[in-house]
Amino acid sequence: MRVAIFGCGQLARMLALASWPLNVRFSFLVEPGENTDCVQGLGTIVERPAGADAQQLYAALGHPDVITVEKEAVDTTLLQALSAHCAVHPNATAVYESQNRRREKMRLDALGIPSTPHAFASDAASLKAAADKLGFPLVVKAAEHGYDGKNQWRIADSAALDAFLQQQPQGDWVVEAFIRFQCEVSLLAARSATGEIRLYPAVLNHHVHGILRSSIAPAQGVEPAWIERMQQHLIRLLEHWQYVGVIAMECFVIDGGLVVNELAPRVHNSGHWTQQAAVTCQFENHVRAILGLPLGNTDTAITSAMLNLIGVNATPQQALGAYTTLHWYNKTVRPGRKVGHINIRHPEREQVLAILQQLEQQFYPA
Ligand code: ATP
Ligand code: MG
Repeated sequence: MRVAIFGCGQLARMLALASWPLNVRFSFLVEPGENTDCVQGLGTIVERPAGADAQQLYAALGHPDVITVEKEAVDTTLLQALSAHCAVHPNATAVYESQNRRREKMRLDALGIPSTPHAFASDAASLKAAADKLGFPLVVKAAEHGYDGKNQWRIADSAALDAFLQQQPQGDWVVEAFIRFQCEVSLLAARSATGEIRLYPAVLNHHVHGILRSSIAPAQGVEPAWIERMQQHLIRLLEHWQYVGVIAMECFVIDGGLVVNELAPRVHNSGHWTQQAAVTCQFENHVRAILGLPLGNTDTAITSAMLNLIGVNATPQQALGAYTTLHWYNKTVRPGRKVGHINIRHPEREQVLAILQQLEQQFYPA
């Protein structure tokens, strides 16, 4: 079986690493000049041929059984055209709607799924109207091309809003109320081509400067009924889209329940702990889902955590211990760049938290 992946980052790498044992082989569609270090040795790297149509691209990718994505910013017209040649999962509509925050919010609104209070804006008048509606502080997010906290701005008051408009008089923005959340959790699910759905336990996430620093699973201290309610919403969304693959829903926990922050139509950083602590990891389950294979169990019998390595080098000597595992992405270390992660797994929750704290101090000394 052959899977073609749009993209060649660490998510593509880990999809391939998890599925080689299933005898699945890979090709990676990359942009001209894109750095392919993450996927070296893991399959055929295909540079997007200029002017190629879907038929030619399908052939260049080695006639895959299925095409999938490891990122949101992909050409969904091309995805749609490729679906005439082989299965494309998740489908072009799901990717199209979630690659743009405005469309994503509109889908959530239409399905009655609670998300952060929001408004849409494109210029000074509409931005000021959004501020009147939502109140300060605000978070202004570009509708497209945001990740790791990039292309979003926190606006404290109307003076800050004026300063922002001086810099950027126009744009395509989703404006959100700044949420004083209790904590952040993400929900991960897999839906297979046969319609089978499995949910992973909720994950507690800790962000630093808008980038995920660490995750702990299963999340504790969040009302299970709130999690269940949002998981039901997630299942409705998956069925609405006829979604196939793994999806992540990032949520804020506030008084009275969960609200959606954003969706990621792919395997997700907050699911990396599943590599060591779930019966079947998110990467293998994504590949099982898109190939129509039975999904693996998503339970965890143990507490685990994940620490991202962001702009910091970590050798096996530094990272490995009796209860830790290193996943290095074969990238060059640069400030702010995710270059690997450490998974921690221990039967006792307190031990997991203690090891996480110790590693965090080791790799991010204050
Ligand atoms: P990702 O890399 O997860 O895709 P992103 O750059 O797309 O991230 P968001 O998830 O929207 O952006 O925001 C990043 C982080 O910023 C959130 O996890 C949260 O900690 C904080 N944040 C975002 N929106 C709000 C908000 N409305 N109120 C308070 N904090 C927020
Ligand atoms: Mg996010």
